[in-house]
Amino acid sequence: MEAIKRNVLLNPGPSTTTDTVKYAQVVPDICPREKEFGGLMKGLREDLVRIVHGDLDTYTAVLFCGSGTINIDVCLNSLLPAGKKVLVVNNGAYSTRAVEICQAYGLPHIDLRFPVDQQPDLELVEKTLREHPDIALVHTTHNETGTGLLNPIRALGALAHRYGAVFTVDTTSTYAMRPIDVEKDNVDFCMASAQKGLMAFTGLSFVIGRKAVIEQSATYPIRSYYCNLWLQYDYFERTGEMHFTPPVQTIYATLQALREYWAEGEQAKWARHTRVFCAINDGLAALGFRQVIRPELRSGLVASALYPDDPNWSFERIHDYCYERGFTIYPGKISSANTFRLCALGAIDEADVRSFFRVFRQGLTELGVQIPVIYQN
Ligand SMILES: *Cc1c(COP(=O)(O)O)cnc(C)c1O
Repeated sequence: MEAIKRNVLLNPGPSTTTDTVKYAQVVPDICPREKEFGGLMKGLREDLVRIVHGDLDTYTAVLFCGSGTINIDVCLNSLLPAGKKVLVVNNGAYSTRAVEICQAYGLPHIDLRFPVDQQPDLELVEKTLREHPDIALVHTTHNETGTGLLNPIRALGALAHRYGAVFTVDTTSTYAMRPIDVEKDNVDFCMASAQKGLMAFTGLSFVIGRKAVIEQSATYPIRSYYCNLWLQYDYFERTGEMHFTPPVQTIYATLQALREYWAEGEQAKWARHTRVFCAINDGLAALGFRQVIRPELRSGLVASALYPDDPNWSFERIHDYCYERGFTIYPGKISSANTFRLCALGAIDEADVRSFFRVFRQGLTELGVQIPVIYQN
């Protein structure tokens, strides 16, 4: 097996993969309608539930072919009964995406907005639930990947349940990294795709949720032909296949990624991501960069740093400098401030972050950016 050039991706997914996962895509051609392939997907679905400690009698995983956004689309359009309303607890770009999906389907919804650098006000969430008994679905984002803010899903889920609503959480940027326990965390539905925490490739996304709720949703309006949760679940349960062509090679890679996930272990993997995140914070602090999210509110996976007020700073130029040397950094996603992001996803460790900061510092020096970086106020 020849080593493939290794790039350290500090963007928020796709993430750096191992060569064993890359090579797992190279398999004999197979028609995904073969029983052999169906068996692989069955085991895969069960493993996906186990990662979030779901009981296999209560929870199931439903596979989709697409990037992570397909999961948000599926959950919102499929799990809302007729005549009911969605409440989106929104403090960032990914919950805003959920609101845009509600708009696209014409779903009745409340966009309950909070500042991007703060957790939601739980009293206000509760007041909204009390005043709108027609809310049947509460949706939020676990780690707002645009900033790195962590949301209090356990408390939000408890509130949703107290008012009889189903709780769906976009866990795309925490799943298989920050430990999640769907029962304890009051999560009815969560989601992710293979290219983030699992460290495989884009093309396979999945929703993990309560079977009973999916079965109940068979009577809800079908708002999408391709992206309906019940239809996809039911087809797989009856036939052992995905309704439409699965991303075959991505599934082989994901199976290898799962073997590596179990070999590393939930706690050890989270400890590694935490190590990487600490190294990122230390590196930014050493250069004088300020971050947007207060330390106690950080997800531990995404650092969001403010552009310095230095006329020589140029995100594009520093990005290109690092990119040419095998390191990818990423712009931020906040409309009110100019930021860039460094993320702790992927098959990387502390030493990679230290190597990155040597390159980054050198790049800043060549650009003539003052170190420590300067801010006007
Ligand atoms: C990456 C990500 C998604 C999916 O984005 P795609 O571009 O569709 O892959 C969704 N939600 C969150 C929180 C994410 O980090």
